[in-house]
Formats: sequence, C-alpha cells, structure tokens
Amino acid sequence: MKIPFLDLKQVNAPYMDALKDAAVAVVESGWYIRGSYCEKFEREFAAYCGFAHGVGVGNGLDALTLMLRASIELGRLKTGDEILVPSNTYIATVLAVNAAGLVPVLVEPDERTFNIDPARLADACSPKTHGILAVHLYGRLADMPAIWEFAKTRDLLVFEDAAQSHGARLSSGPQECHPERRAQPAVEGSRSAAVAYSFYPTKNLGALGDAGMVLTDDAELARVVRMLGNYGSEKKYVNMYRGVNSRLDEIQAAFLLAKLPHLDAWNERRRAIAARYVREVNNPLLQLPEIPADPREHVWHVFTLRTPDGKTRDALQKHLESRGIGTLIFYPIPPHLQQAYAAGPEGECALLPVNPKFPIAEKMAETVLSVPVSQVLTDSEVTEIIGALNEFGR
Ligand SMILES: *Cc1c(COP(=O)(O)O)cnc(C)c1O
Repeated sequence: MKIPFLDLKQVNAPYMDALKDAAVAVVESGWYIRGSYCEKFEREFAAYCGFAHGVGVGNGLDALTLMLRASIELGRLKTGDEILVPSNTYIATVLAVNAAGLVPVLVEPDERTFNIDPARLADACSPKTHGILAVHLYGRLADMPAIWEFAKTRDLLVFEDAAQSHGARLSSGPQECHPERRAQPAVEGSRSAAVAYSFYPTKNLGALGDAGMVLTDDAELARVVRMLGNYGSEKKYVNMYRGVNSRLDEIQAAFLLAKLPHLDAWNERRRAIAARYVREVNNPLLQLPEIPADPREHVWHVFTLRTPDGKTRDALQKHLESRGIGTLIFYPIPPHLQQAYAAGPEGECALLPVNPKFPIAEKMAETVLSVPVSQVLTDSEVTEIIGALNEFGR
C-alpha cells in the first residue's frame, strides 16, 4: 500500500463537478480579477472567521506583508520597528516582516505547543518593539489570550499568521476580547489588528493556485491593504501609495467558494485521525503532539511527531518510506540558520538578536517528522500508519 503525504488530486477530486461549474462561470463572466466572486469569497470567509472585513490578495506572503505595510502607512507602526515572531516558523513569516521594512525579533517556542512562548515575550522586548506576529503552527492556535494580555501591558499591536489554521476556534479568553463573537464561531484574532491567511493548495482550505487574504475588523486598515495590493490605488490611475500587484483571481475565489462549505467537515476528520494517532501510537521512541483542552483550537494542518534525536528521526522517516508512507519535515532549517539570514560582511543581519542562539528551534528542526493527516485518508490507511509507527525500532 502506498500512502502519499498529501495527494492534492485526491483532495479535490470529490468536488470535480462544483470546481468545473465554478471555472465555467468565471470564464463566462468575462471578468477575471477582483470581481463578484472575489467579493463574495471575501465576505463569506470573513463572516466564517468572525471578522468585519476580508481583502483578497495574491498569496499568504503578500497577506502578511501588506497587513504590516498598511499599518505603517496608517502610522500605527514605523519603519524599523521591532516585531516579535517565533523562531520556528515557515520563513514567510520572517520575510514578510523584513519586506514591510520592520525588524523581526525571534522568540523561542513552547515545546509543548510548538508555538511562540508567551513567557519569553518580555525578555525579547526593547523600546523599539511595537508588535507581535503570532503563528498558529501546524494548525494549533498560539496562546492568544496570553499574547493579547501581554501586548496590552506594552501597547503592542498583535498580528496573526493563520496560514495553517483555517477554521480553528478560540473558545476561551478574556471576556472583553470578543463580546459578541462567542455566539458566532470566533476565530483567533479577537483583539488582533489583522490576520493573514494563505490558500496555497496544500493548506486546510486550498485554492488551485496561489491565493491569500487579510482579515481585520478595522475598515481603514482593510481599505489600505486593498489599495496596496492594487498599485496603491482605489481610483483608477490615482495612486495614494507605492503599492504592488497582489490581487485574488476570480477563478481562485470561485474555487474557494465551492470548497469553503466543506472546511469544517474536513477539519473534523483531521481531528478524528489525530485523536487516533494520539490514542493508538504507543511507541516509547515517539513523542506525540498534545491535543488542546478544547480540541477546536487545533485543525491539524500537519501531524508532527518528535523523536529523541536527529538520527532517530531520519531512521523513522526511512522506516516509514520503506512501508510506502510519505512524510515531511516542517521545517528542516529554522529561519535564523538560512543562508538568506546569514550576517553580512560587517556582521549586520536582517533579524534580531544578531548571533542568536535558538536551541529549541534548532532541536525541533532536527527531531520533528510529520505523518499524513489529511481528510482523504481512509480508516485502514490510518491503521496502517499507526502499525508502522508502533513497529519502529522494535
Ligand atoms: C504557507 C505559509 C505561508 C505563506 O503562504 P503562501 O501563500 O505560500 O505565500 C506563510 N506562513 C505560514 C505559516 C505558512 O504555512
């Protein structure tokens, strides 16, 4: 039996008719960028997440960059301000901070959750720190109530990279965070300035190409993000900002509209698979991720195991490969060790602290391995994967 890590054809095949109808409707409409499908998807996804405004953009990196740039244009941040980001994230998070003209300051994660450790935020702050960009890594919400609480004491703006957490719900938290959002399904972000989403094809809600969105309750911020993604313009040939071209295609919006109604069911299936792994994998060599007290806070974008050391991880990957089971490492090299962030000749570096030591992020990169968890897995495939994990090293 062959079990790929993720087969996108299999993910989309059940919706072939709806996707074909969506494509035909867009072709026949004669309008291909930022039209009625984009508008409808912005409205529906924002409502699904409990936000007032959604702005479709070209991809997740642009969503991150433009929400930060818009905050600068509106005077809420200044070029050169420091933004706290986790040391163990996909590099897009860090690149976006640089791209906006801000300085990423890396903060180690909590090993239990893989997310930025709120207890380390205070030490990472300097007088130039004006924001936190939290990442909901692997689909698990970062500890937003603690992050919002800390941000309040230092007057920091909070942003979220939700590229891996479509549909995750925060149910607890200070009452004043989300007065009316309790009834409506509340996504992370109640008190965040803005949240960035990617709809890259492999995400829990994926397009059939690139797509992204910024969600916010702030009408002004939404307006500036929209302008920045359209050459800094809202009136044809009148340019308020030095913008870029980053817009959500109609055809991707139409695909996403067809897929959105299924997202909750997919996430439920992912949770069921993750729960089986946690219950049934009993190999002492493997450390399993924790299911949050409220399971809705995790949508299992990937299911990530840990091994005691790098050699064991590599052996586990080989063992699973020999059984036909595809795995991936998220992520093998943390941002601060990438060539892209190597210090220049004068020792200057685009991220802080310079000459950093991030042992937790480095250890994670060495010891994590993700196994298949997508909604298309059958029960017998899950059983097969559990069997292979339990046999490892015995
Ligand atoms: C996928 C991803 C991004 C980038 O999204 P793109 O659409 O590929 O630009 C950013 N951050 C995280 C955490 C991601 O997983």
